[in-house]
Amino acid sequence: MKLKLHWQILIALGLAVIAGLLTGNADVKFSIVNAATHQGFYEVYDFLGTLFLNALKMLIVPLIVSSIITGILSTGGGRDFGRLGGKTLLYYMSTSLVAILIGLALVNLIGPGYIDGAPARDQLALSADTAAVEQAVEGKGMKDIAEIFIRMVPPNVLEAATNNGQMLGVIFFALLFGFFLTTLSGKAREVISAFWQGCFEIMMKITELIMKFAPIGVFALLARTVSQTGFDAFMPLLKFFLTVMIALALHFLVVLPLVLALIARVKPVRHYIAMAPALLTAFSTASSAATLPLTMDCVENRCGVSNRITSFVLPLGATVNMDGTALFECVAAMFIAQAYGVELTFATQFIIVAIALLTSIGVAAIPKASLVAIMVILSAIGLPAEALGLILAVDRILDMCRTSVNIFSDSVGAVVIARSEGEENVLANAAAKPAA
Ligand code: ASP
Repeated sequence: MKLKLHWQILIALGLAVIAGLLTGNADVKFSIVNAATHQGFYEVYDFLGTLFLNALKMLIVPLIVSSIITGILSTGGGRDFGRLGGKTLLYYMSTSLVAILIGLALVNLIGPGYIDGAPARDQLALSADTAAVEQAVEGKGMKDIAEIFIRMVPPNVLEAATNNGQMLGVIFFALLFGFFLTTLSGKAREVISAFWQGCFEIMMKITELIMKFAPIGVFALLARTVSQTGFDAFMPLLKFFLTVMIALALHFLVVLPLVLALIARVKPVRHYIAMAPALLTAFSTASSAATLPLTMDCVENRCGVSNRITSFVLPLGATVNMDGTALFECVAAMFIAQAYGVELTFATQFIIVAIALLTSIGVAAIPKASLVAIMVILSAIGLPAEALGLILAVDRILDMCRTSVNIFSDSVGAVVIARSEGEENVLANAAAKPAA
């Protein structure tokens, strides 16, 4: 019997941790190889991992464009499209807000930026340059937010498509294109619709091919990370790390399954199992955009959500809906503010929450993208961006986890919306369906 895909990937992840530790660099405690051998292994991991990642990335632009256009076509445009769009945005905004509030509650409760109740600035070796800390950069934060949204309307759509960070612009164009395609009639509509439908189907077929290589790709990506970082960098930041992890876990294991059970009325366990290949890929790639092809495949083929919903909700969600990212931004900014001893008034916390929510929409679905948004928050509350350097040490693992939460929330959104549109078969027998 052939092992199911999610088991294959899970085993690959386990092996990757072992292989990464054993072939790690000088900083990795369990390494049994010398520097030259480590380098050799690193290059193999890097080669295989990059190949897998490139294969996924290659699909992003044609997949986003073709699926949004076919998604709108299948709603027929007009009122249906408006209703679906409204529901999608409502779900995205509310789950992201809940995620941020969970982060806010925990970071206040645990206080990772304090040691024995006092700001941990010195212990964390944050800059002693008070002038820089106190130099408020009021207004700058707002301008940066505006910039994120200006990218939504790209001056050149082809340029936006070639730039990783500008998917929002591509999505905006595809939405307009799809919408006005539904207003055409006759031959033009027929030909153009068939063209995009065909593109979309081809993209999904290529996705299925790439998924077969997921265990190898996931192995290589994780082994590469582990062999580079080891665990030592974590210790000074352990409290911060744990705060983020607990908050993410609450959202992933309590809030979202409750949404599934109470609003969508489906069994959460089935959904976790159905989404496993995509979750594990998000974990190892740390990119919602690169995971999008797998997310779509899992939600459509393993959860049984109709193509009409997935092709609209998921590409939008990969860029716009980032619960894990929003939560992380809030915890990270609060942590740095705590460590600097900034007074965390209601107004300051409100600004942090609001910017985290707004920027999580605009942030690109690629690794480390949150860091840019945290910079925006820091400058809005008058803190120096250099404090970010601190977070970098533990960012990779947190990025992997928050990306999994990001795509999980997108998939829950697709299920909720499908159920609200009367789809009865969603997750009805998902656990029994074959992997990929
Ligand atoms: N890596 C995340 C994603 O792709 C974004 C981030 O939080 O950095 O979803």
